[in-house]
Amino acid sequence: MKKTILLLTVVALFMFSCGEETAKTVEPKKETVKKEEPKKEEPVKEESKASVDGKLVLEGDDQMQFNVNEFIVKEGQEITLTLIHVGKIPKEAMGHNFVLLKAGVDHKAFATKAATSKDTDYIPDGGKDVIAHTKMLGGGEKDIITFTAPAKGTYTFICSFPGHSGLMNGKFIVE
Ligand code: ZN
Repeated sequence: MKKTILLLTVVALFMFSCGEETAKTVEPKKETVKKEEPKKEEPVKEESKASVDGKLVLEGDDQMQFNVNEFIVKEGQEITLTLIHVGKIPKEAMGHNFVLLKAGVDHKAFATKAATSKDTDYIPDGGKDVIAHTKMLGGGEKDIITFTAPAKGTYTFICSFPGHSGLMNGKFIVE
């Protein structure tokens, strides 16, 4: 009788350990289930954008970046520039505009003056240093402006929101 009980115990233990073993081998499968990692949207910096038709599109985002850092257009060309704020942050905290500066205007000095010109949408001195500019946009907004490309040369465009022009600037080349 004792032997039978012992045998049953051994069998039970064996089954138990077997069961455990099975559970162990099943578990890793769970971890192999693919988890769709949300892709971190890296801001794609386009090096240059030449335009044949004068239609330019520029995006600003919540990471304080423009997606284009160089436009190439033709002298005297009619330019239609669309600025899109593709982020979500309101303009009080992450405002973006496009400001094309006249030749020879130092963009850092301009930005310093612009930072204290909130009442005029961050365009200082009545816009005397500016060829063209959009309004200041918040996340999800856009603005379209038209202007005539100036004389041949290399110009600078910036976002004149306080603290942004260091990162948000580019070349506007007129050929
Ligand atoms: Zn900005």
